[in-house]
Amino acid sequence: MPIDATLAYDDQNIFARILRGEIPAKKVHEDEHALAFHDINAQAPVHILVIPKGAYVSWDDFSARGSEAEIAGFVRAVGKVARNLGLVAPGYRLLANTGGDAGQEVPHLHVHLFGGRHLGPMLAR
Ligand code: 5GP
Repeated sequence: MPIDATLAYDDQNIFARILRGEIPAKKVHEDEHALAFHDINAQAPVHILVIPKGAYVSWDDFSARGSEAEIAGFVRAVGKVARNLGLVAPGYRLLANTGGDAGQEVPHLHVHLFGGRHLGPMLAR
């Protein structure tokens, strides 16, 4: 079920639990502002989720309330993960689902990082 991105942050969501180390994740990067790990249900040869460490429901929430340092740190982390995975030359795609129409399922901001093959059209028609 897609989430309502206007609701308050729920600290029992699955990514909050990954951040607290309560459930495992295959981590590829961690720093002060971000954690990156493999998606449990990969949709491409490379499918990484990058999340901010702060409690933000969605891109909307983060872009409205995140500090300059958190936003800069998060954006830099996304770029660094892609670079470290060797995805700049072949290319990659970023996706941040926000709310119902986009089908966001986990109410903690996450950017999907896809790569490893030609990714096809931007959206299903
Ligand atoms: P959304 O639809 O919210 O944009 O994407 C949520 C993503 O989280 C999905 O691609 C889903 O496979 C992934 N996911 C859900 N639960 C877990 C989990 O427990 N661990 C990991 N690594 N990924 C998860």
